[in-house]
Amino acid sequence: MINVLLSILLIISSTLLGNLVLYGIRKKKIPGVFFFSLLMTAMIIHSVGYAFELLSNTLDQMYFWIRIEYLGAAFYPFLIMLFAREYADEKQFANKYMLTLMLTVGLITLILVNTNSYHWLYYSSVGIDSSPGFPILASKKGMWYYVQVFCLCFAIFYSIIIFSIKVKITRGDYRKKVIFMLVGVSIPMVTLIIYMLGLGPVYIDLLPFSYFFMSTFIIIGLLRYDILFLAPVTHEMVFNSIEEAVLVVDKDELLVNFNNASKRFFPSLAKIKVGNSIHMIQELKGYDFSSKQPVYQIHDKVLRFKVIHIKSGKVCIYVVDDITESERVKKQLEILATEDALTGLSNRRYFMEKVETRTEQGIFVIIDLDHFKSVNDTFGHVEGDRVLKAFGESLKETFAPQTVCRYGGEEFAVFMNGLTMEEAFQQVEAMREKTAYMNFARKVTFSAGMAECRNCNVSEALIIADRKLYEAKKNGRNQTRY
Ligand code: GH3
Ligand code: MG
Ligand code: MG
Repeated sequence: MINVLLSILLIISSTLLGNLVLYGIRKKKIPGVFFFSLLMTAMIIHSVGYAFELLSNTLDQMYFWIRIEYLGAAFYPFLIMLFAREYADEKQFANKYMLTLMLTVGLITLILVNTNSYHWLYYSSVGIDSSPGFPILASKKGMWYYVQVFCLCFAIFYSIIIFSIKVKITRGDYRKKVIFMLVGVSIPMVTLIIYMLGLGPVYIDLLPFSYFFMSTFIIIGLLRYDILFLAPVTHEMVFNSIEEAVLVVDKDELLVNFNNASKRFFPSLAKIKVGNSIHMIQELKGYDFSSKQPVYQIHDKVLRFKVIHIKSGKVCIYVVDDITESERVKKQLEILATEDALTGLSNRRYFMEKVETRTEQGIFVIIDLDHFKSVNDTFGHVEGDRVLKAFGESLKETFAPQTVCRYGGEEFAVFMNGLTMEEAFQQVEAMREKTAYMNFARKVTFSAGMAECRNCNVSEALIIADRKLYEAKKNGRNQTRY
């Protein structure tokens, strides 16, 4: 009867563990969860096997279930070490050699349990004892049994130390979660100590029962503090709430992870999985990964790339930002700061900036439309604007590639280099002729003043040009003076 109750307890424990496995599968994207699920699966196999072993009547039946149990129990030391290592991110001690050793011991245990009758290395003898009131396997421990128990103690001891350190170095709510984890992994250790000190019931393996307490504890912890998954989930949430695209790649340029925003930036990622090459991203076909170019343009989008190297170059993170809008605004501001809105010519500020930094000598021309006020007064400002615009365009055309600007209201300035005064004068006069043929409501003329800038400063030359312009005006307008 007691064996039936114990079996029921083990089945309940397995159901609880099964829930943990399902929980783990649901959150499979979180690092470490895979190992957590594997550990729990091993515990389920051990518990269910032991439940049926307790219900068996013959030695053959019992040994059949032992074989099943060990499919999980043999790897328990390996899995608990793997899980503690992944959860606490401790990879120095639990390195690949240590893990290989633990896995090898587990495999040997499995083989020895299945071939025990040939060598008696795991159990030195097996029989049936009916003294507890039901038939139970009475076995004597062989040499390898102690090796397996030692490894188990070692793995549990390792995880207790790892979690203790973690408790010491963490603070706040996260610490509470780790304390739950520590107590959880300590429970099988307590059972093992009771068992080894001979304080428990003879022939009954307490370890599967410790799973019951351990899993209950972990489930309570999970529900109260979300012990296992809160931190990674938070990381995942933060990762996915970032508006920039984040692509994590390893040294072979294979994608390790990417956030949700990346799919918006690069739609081809919808068909690409973690583990695939970053070069499969269609939209980045033209991106130069070797020089890690900081700005990249695809179609009408401008993307800014920030590249971060971590783990001494083994992992590379690309943070991609869409700067199309800010670049557009920047360009627009640049235009506003340098261009005159009506004529599209350079404005006075930009013109001065350009001529003041020039190294070559040249000629300044200041052009002022004659009696322009009367154009406005007679035909209105709209016609006045049309004249200014067309005149500006014609100036640009006539003097290209020289620097032309709108100097003020109806005043324009040109800086010409590489020409003699006579040649420059001819160009201004050519403009005069053009203007005469321009089609406006009224004939438009202009006066111009010119000054040569040879080893003199710009403002001095402009003052002279201005004076010459004044002379032209005084002298009857529609003429150029130098
Ligand atoms: P002057 O031959 O002596 O240069 O005579 P003027 O009428 O051209 O000179 P004045 O300085 O008296 O007047 C300049 C006029 O230019 C006054 C102003 O209404 C006009 N003006 C300045 N900027 C603009 C503009 O952006 N659009 C229009 N439509 N008119 C402008
Ligand atoms: Mg004027
Ligand atoms: Mg004028």
